[in-house]
Amino acid sequence: MPATHHTKMLILGSGPAGLSAAIYAARAGMQPIVVQGLQPGGQLTITTDVENYPGFAEVIQGPWLMEQMTAQATHVGASMIWDTIVDVDLLQRPFRLTGDGGDVYVAETLVIATGAQAKWLGVPGEQELGGKGVSACATCDGFFYRGKKVVVIGGGNTAVEEALYLTNHSDDVTLIHRRDTLRAEKILQDRLHANPKIKVLWNKKVDRFVAGEGTAGLVGVDLIDTVTGHERTDGGFVAIGHSPSTELFKGKLPLDADGYLAVTPGTSLTAVPGVFAAGDVTDKVYRQAITAAGMGCMAALDAERFLAEAEYHAMVDA
Ligand code: FAD
Ligand code: NAP
Repeated sequence: MPATHHTKMLILGSGPAGLSAAIYAARAGMQPIVVQGLQPGGQLTITTDVENYPGFAEVIQGPWLMEQMTAQATHVGASMIWDTIVDVDLLQRPFRLTGDGGDVYVAETLVIATGAQAKWLGVPGEQELGGKGVSACATCDGFFYRGKKVVVIGGGNTAVEEALYLTNHSDDVTLIHRRDTLRAEKILQDRLHANPKIKVLWNKKVDRFVAGEGTAGLVGVDLIDTVTGHERTDGGFVAIGHSPSTELFKGKLPLDADGYLAVTPGTSLTAVPGVFAAGDVTDKVYRQAITAAGMGCMAALDAERFLAEAEYHAMVDA
């Protein structure tokens, strides 16, 4: 039997942005509800070592970090619900959202923290070798390929930035692009071509990622149009773009040209008063756990302030 949940703050998403918003909102006495979605804990639950989240001198595991954030949010009073929102009505406040089992959420404020997902090539070997040589995040995993040979696939800003970043760890970085011109900004292209540690393979597509014997992980990348067949590689970074999880909000909230939720710069405010956005769903530049967590904090504070003002005006008008 579907239930109806009433809350001062509904948070969509249980990654670093959603859980940080939940911690701040719960501590402010707002009794937030977090709808966790299909990936409780978010993107960090699909990685292993996390070495750049401040506060931990030793390497921590992504799933463990997200368990801790979830426990912290619960301890301070947030409610976690395992559901996925499939419909949103933002035309009037309180907002009404519907879960995939029919539950209805009636929310005075809404924080959208539905994240983004890396796009993948969909070629053989890619899924099986995820975390074993194939990655979509050089900032996160580049360190593990120190002194090794790596390839980056893509021709946009992300791919070029990832290739440049990887030269901090490797002297042998190859950018593989499917055309003969890059989409990346000129300034990035200039830096790419000036870097002696990077070579570019033009007009090449990945045919498959090649696994080694047993637990060896990635040993090569087969390219279409290549003469030499597959070459030995230690890490393959897929950097062909990210897709923000904003399908639900099309036509309901303004999105930017890349599909990310638009917010007033420097805040978490969307175009609809009472609706806030945080994390990768609104951020195509930084896309880190720490920045997502920071934005989650901002969204909770913005929502709290919004409610206080709304309550004040209701009292004055009464
Ligand atoms: P996400 O973590 O993407 O969480 C989105 C949440 O929204 C999920 O819980 C999902 O279930 C939920 N959701 C989506 N749609 C709905 C819906 N309709 N209804 C309800 N809920 C919904 N960053 C680092 O700082 N350090 C690292 O080492 C690092 N390693 C990474 C390794 C990998 C393999 C990947 C993919 C990313 C890595 N990142 C790392 C990036 C980091 O994971 C993201 O920047 C961060 O998770 C973004 O947090 P978020 O809360 O905005 O979104
Ligand atoms: P993007 O601009 O969409 O570029 C994706 C690249 O991957 C393109 O070169 C594309 O090739 C290639 N690609 C896509 N699908 C592919 C496939 N199936 N096989 C092989 N190659 C494929 O994505 P992005 O680089 O992540 O950038 C996304 C947005 O974020 C952009 O607006 C970008 O400007 C912005 N961004 C900004 C910064 C910054 O300001 N510093 C940093 C990162 C990203 P084609 O060129 O042939 O289409």
